[in-house]
Amino acid sequence: MAEMHTGVARQRGLQPWPTPRRIATLSVHTSPLHQPGTGDAGGMNVYIVEVARRLADAGVEVEIFTRATAGDLPPTVEMAPGVKVRHIISGPFEGLAKEELPAQMCAFTTGVLRAEAARAPGYYDLVHSHYWLSGQVGWLAKERWGVPLVHSAHTLAKVKNAQLAAGDRPEPKARIIGEEQLVVEADRLVANTRVEAHDLVDSYGADPTRVAVVEPGVDLDRFRPPTAGTEAATRLAARRRLGLPEHGHIVAFVGRIQPLKAPDVLLHAAAALRARDPEIADQLTVVIVGGPSGTGLDRPTALIDLAASLGISDAVRFLPPQTGDDLPALYRAADLVAVPSHNESFGLVALEAQACGTPVVAAAVGGLVTAVRDQISGMLVDGHDPVDWARVLGGLLAAPARRAGLGRGAVRHARNFSWARTASGLIAVYREAVAEHRSRTLSQLTDGAAAISAGAF
Ligand code: UDP
Repeated sequence: MAEMHTGVARQRGLQPWPTPRRIATLSVHTSPLHQPGTGDAGGMNVYIVEVARRLADAGVEVEIFTRATAGDLPPTVEMAPGVKVRHIISGPFEGLAKEELPAQMCAFTTGVLRAEAARAPGYYDLVHSHYWLSGQVGWLAKERWGVPLVHSAHTLAKVKNAQLAAGDRPEPKARIIGEEQLVVEADRLVANTRVEAHDLVDSYGADPTRVAVVEPGVDLDRFRPPTAGTEAATRLAARRRLGLPEHGHIVAFVGRIQPLKAPDVLLHAAAALRARDPEIADQLTVVIVGGPSGTGLDRPTALIDLAASLGISDAVRFLPPQTGDDLPALYRAADLVAVPSHNESFGLVALEAQACGTPVVAAAVGGLVTAVRDQISGMLVDGHDPVDWARVLGGLLAAPARRAGLGRGAVRHARNFSWARTASGLIAVYREAVAEHRSRTLSQLTDGAAAISAGAF
């Protein structure tokens, strides 16, 4: 898909256009200022923050519009030099679930249009919307401001519905329709991986020449491996810092607690390991980091109850969402990080863990197939059968040399990704979208002028 996209503007004879000076980023349902790892705040928040910073470094000012979720928020917060977060009042501050937000789209859109109307004409060169709800606002803003719309879906309802966890609620038809509209209306669709690009083309009928693959990144300054030779000491220090067992094996799950992320598969696997390999299982602690989210909020204690019913409560530790500053210690404390998701558009946690030198055992779905290199930086597991997961996890826990080899592979693999690379990929997409948009507008004007001089009006 990347090849299909690369150089489209050139092939169409468009003039290269300079980098946009200022863009409006739309993130209706979740604020970049929220702590990721619970509720609606996750990888998309991290993505928007990290990319905005790097875009600003590259000279592109970013204004991020998000819904105000508290009465005491200032209208504008300067998040970093060149990056502002603008709070738009739309609906009650608290108590609205993401599913209820479509009813607030008019209010949100009005707030965004008002903010722009108070600026000089042509203030934003482009709109970049994240998730389908923001896309609906972006579509209108694009028409109103006469600028191109770049849209990132992050997750797709049709794909999600095809890979639902047992008992999880399917995404509603309204979302599917909204995503289909955006596939038609957006000037460019940004996909995290080639898998997502193909989903956009195959399941949504997207025009391949308007789909660009731009992979997410990882903060390689924050998520660093231990210095060679200090691995064991670093692991011990990290475990002490987090109050985790100093000895034995740790397998960590990091992310929002929801059925889609399948932390239950890890608990079932830990129970299956007791039957399969009691010696390894006796030394195992499963650490679950994160807070409830989505349909998991229906029963926030479900995972604690599951551990009890499996008879493994003594081997499971639950930690609240950790800040980005604490996460490196968490990843380094673990022997393995498990990502058993039923679907994952990319899987930033997998990349962060690998950047810290910890191998990842992940489900072979969606973006995880890109985020983890099977047998080199970790292991990919087909399906969600706890017996398969117990076999792979138990096998690796019993093989320290193999784990160390994968850990080295993990660090190498993670180095292929960085947020600076993501930002420069996005800038290329923006430039092309602006060039194409302006060329189209120009030819419409030329056609109009020709029609007038030919006496058509
Ligand atoms: N995260 C965090 N604290 C936590 C758990 C998760 O900051 O306690 C962050 C994590 O570092 C990652 C993001 O939330 O950057 C989760 O992204 P991922 O792509 O793995 O999953 P998503 O939330 O997008 O489904």
